[in-house]
Amino acid sequence: MSPTPLEHRIKAMIRLGGPLSIADYMAEALGDPEHGYYMAREAIGAAGDFVTAPEVSQMFGELIGLWAVDTWMRLGRPDPFRLVELGPGRGTLMADALRAARIRPDFLGAARLHLVETSPKLRARQRQALAGGPLSPQWHDRVEEIAEGPAVVLANEFFDALPIRQWQRVGGLWRERVVGLDADGELAFGLGAGVLTASEVPGRLAGVPEGAILETGAVAAAMMEHLAERIVRSGGALLAIDYGTAQSGIGDSFQAVRAHQPVDPLDRPGEADLTAHVDFQALATAARRARAAVHGPMEQGDFLLALGLAERAGRLGADQDEAGRARITGEVARLVSAEEMGTLFKVMAVTRPGLVPAPWGA
Ligand code: SAH
Repeated sequence: MSPTPLEHRIKAMIRLGGPLSIADYMAEALGDPEHGYYMAREAIGAAGDFVTAPEVSQMFGELIGLWAVDTWMRLGRPDPFRLVELGPGRGTLMADALRAARIRPDFLGAARLHLVETSPKLRARQRQALAGGPLSPQWHDRVEEIAEGPAVVLANEFFDALPIRQWQRVGGLWRERVVGLDADGELAFGLGAGVLTASEVPGRLAGVPEGAILETGAVAAAMMEHLAERIVRSGGALLAIDYGTAQSGIGDSFQAVRAHQPVDPLDRPGEADLTAHVDFQALATAARRARAAVHGPMEQGDFLLALGLAERAGRLGADQDEAGRARITGEVARLVSAEEMGTLFKVMAVTRPGLVPAPWGA
C-alpha cells in the first residue's frame, strides 16, 4: 500500500528536524488540519473505527444529562450557566442529555451550550445531532475561548485523545521514547536525547526495571488545571469519563485502532485513532493544585448503576417487545460488565470545594 499523505509529511519532518516526541506524533496524526484522523475520517460509531458509550446506548447520555441537572441544582441553580462538552464526537451524548433534561425546563432555560471541538467534520455532525433540540450550541477550538462563569463541563473519551510523552528506563535514566526512521526509512520507535528529570518522576517509581515505560500527559494535566481554576473561581463542576487507571503506574498504553481492530500506532498515520490510557491520579493532582475538590475516580459500571441505569433500562424495556428488551439488556451489559466497559472506564468529578455531586454525595 502506498504511504498516507500524512506519513509522507511526518517522514519529511523527521528527516529535516529529527525524531518527534510521541506527543508531537500524536498531535500530527490526530490533528493535522488536512489529513489528521479526527479532521478527515468518520471515526466514531459502528461504521467508524471505534464505538463510545453514548453510541452504545441512549441511556448513557440520558443519565449524564440527569447528572448535569442534579449538579446544577446542587450548585444553587445558577442562571445563566455554561453547559460545556469537550470533544462531543457525533453529538449523541449531548442530544440524549438534553432530551432527558427536559424534565427541568428551568435548567434548559438557564443553560448556554458550548462545544469544544477542533474537527470541522465532527462539528457538522454535532450540528445535525442537536438541530431541533432545545439549545443552540456555540463552538470553540479551545476551552480558553469560553467566557468565564458557572459551568457544568462534560468530557467522555476526551482526555484519552490528548498527546502523551513516553519515557523508557535505560541505564538508570528515564529517556524519551521518540518516533524516528529506521534503516529502510520507515517510521520506528527509538530513544531521543531528552531525559525526565528527577523532580518530574513520581517518587514511587524509583527502582523500576530496565526497559520499563512511563507515560506523562502534560497537555491533559494543564487542561485539567485550567478547568479546575475556572471552576474554583466561578463555580461549577466537571465530569470526566475515560478508560484509564486510578493510580499512576508504568506501562505502554499508546495504542491505535482502525475498523475496530488494534493496529500498530506507526502504521498509516491519519487512518487510525490514537489514544493512551488516562492517568486519573495525575488529573486529580492537577485539579487539586488549583484547589478544586476531586471525587472518585469510580468505575463506570458502579457510577451508572448508582445513577439508576437498571431502573432506566426497566422503564425503557416496559414498552418494548422481547427483542427490544434483549437489546436493552445487551446495552446495559456493555456499559457495566467488567469484560466490557464497566471497570476499565473510570468516572471522576471535579468541583468547587464544598460541593459533593451524585453519586458521591447522597
Ligand atoms: N465524546 C465523544 C467523542 C470521543 S472522540 C463520544 O463519547 O463519542 C474524541 C473527541 O475529542 C472528538 O470529537 C475529537 O474531535 C475531539 N478532540 C480531540 N482532541 C481535541 C482537542 N485537542 N481539542 C478539542 N477537541 C478534541
